[in-house]
Amino acid sequence: MICRFSGPMISFAEAASKGEKECYPLQIDDNKYIDLDPPGCFANHSCEPNAGIRADLELVALTDIPAGTEIRYDYSTTMDEDYFTMPCRCGSESCRGKVEDFKLLPPSASKRYLTLGIVMSFIVRKHNVKP
Ligand SMILES: [Zn+2]
Repeated sequence: MICRFSGPMISFAEAASKGEKECYPLQIDDNKYIDLDPPGCFANHSCEPNAGIRADLELVALTDIPAGTEIRYDYSTTMDEDYFTMPCRCGSESCRGKVEDFKLLPPSASKRYLTLGIVMSFIVRKHNVKP
C-alpha cells in the first residue's frame, strides 16, 4: 500500500466548482467525493498505471515502483459522472488520449482493472460489471 486517501467529503457540485482542479476530488459514489489531502492529491493519471485503488481508499502499487518514479493510477477507475473529461498525454503506448468515465474504457482495459480489483465499488455495483 502506498497511502490511504483522506480528506473532507464533498458533493458533485462542490467538486465541479473547483474548475481545473476538479481532478483532485476523488469520486467514491454518486454525488460523493473526497477532496483529497496530500499526499493522495499528488497521484497523477496514466493509461498504463503503476498503481490502483483498492477498497475505495487504498492506493496500492501494481508493480515494483523504483524510488523517484511518479505514482500514477488510471483516473477512469474512479469516474462515473457524465461530466469531467481531460486530455491525456501520459505518453504510454496504450494512451487513450482522453480521461473519461469508466464505462467508456475499451473492454480490455476495464476487464483488466476489474480483475485487479482496482475499480471503485460504486461503479462495480452500479453497472453490475464482473471481471
Ligand atoms: Zn494516457
